[in-house]
Amino acid sequence: MKIGITGCAGRMGQMLVREVLLTDDCTLAGGTERPGHTALGQDVAQTAGLAACGLAISDNSEALFAASDAVIDFTIAEVTESHARFTKKYGTNLILGTTGHDGSQMASIEAAAACAPIVKAMNFSVGVNVLFALTKQLAGALDENFDIEIVEMHHKHKVDAPSGTALGLAQAAADGREVDLNHVIDRGRDGITGERRRGQIGLAALRGGDVVGEHDVIFAGPSERIKISHIAASREIFARGAVRAALWSAHVTPGLYSMLDVLDFSDGDA
Ligand code: NAD
Repeated sequence: MKIGITGCAGRMGQMLVREVLLTDDCTLAGGTERPGHTALGQDVAQTAGLAACGLAISDNSEALFAASDAVIDFTIAEVTESHARFTKKYGTNLILGTTGHDGSQMASIEAAAACAPIVKAMNFSVGVNVLFALTKQLAGALDENFDIEIVEMHHKHKVDAPSGTALGLAQAAADGREVDLNHVIDRGRDGITGERRRGQIGLAALRGGDVVGEHDVIFAGPSERIKISHIAASREIFARGAVRAALWSAHVTPGLYSMLDVLDFSDGDA
């Protein structure tokens, strides 16, 4: 499979280039960067810290989609609409890690998914997606005598809280219990909060050091407690999951898929 990488000089882009070049069953089709970027014209692999591969970084996204079986996109939400257009035009599979899409950008993704497989995930880590599936399953199996708390920790530079992954875990727990998350979520406690409400799903965010990302889901019941955890040691886990999704996409019909589909956990069973 020929895989192209958009935003190939970015933090995730460089990891994706390395992952494609080090993975069997795929070859690198090329890489793009935004117009005016200082890396334009440089070798794609060299920019990612590897030996030169003879492909120069270009700002021509359309040519990359035309030359690729799948494109992996971890860039900015503003370019998704044009990338979705190229997916439609060339039938190129799209693996979309970019986050922060608004309603019209989401609509363009859904429209393009009629023409080619698109895998979209806010977290491409295989382990985190297993945690999503387990959280949903446990929340469904344990009644409201078990209080659900989600604790996450990230490095001190992260500007938002709670993390998108923590919110995804809260959603998975709410789905498992078949309740509306908006009615049960508690995003932070401070001061005289009163007793914990039955059925609440609580979130807490810790910040410090260079922690890549840690998530605990705690089910605290009478006289017993279950805790499931995921610890990310490197952002490489996202690149590895995205390349796995690209290879998987070669075998499915057009449609919008999640990482749970790639792992065959889409019904929540782990
Ligand atoms: P980054 O800023 O390091 O990289 C983004 C790159 O995209 C930059 O090099 C930028 O120049 C490039 N770019 C912008 N416009 C472009 C265009 N028109 N054509 C080609 N390239 C263009 O950011 P990052 O940390 O690599 O994250 C990128 C995105 O991936 C963010 O949305 C982030 O939230 C998301 N992300 C998702 C996951 C996941 O698992 N889904 C994991 C990590 C990051």
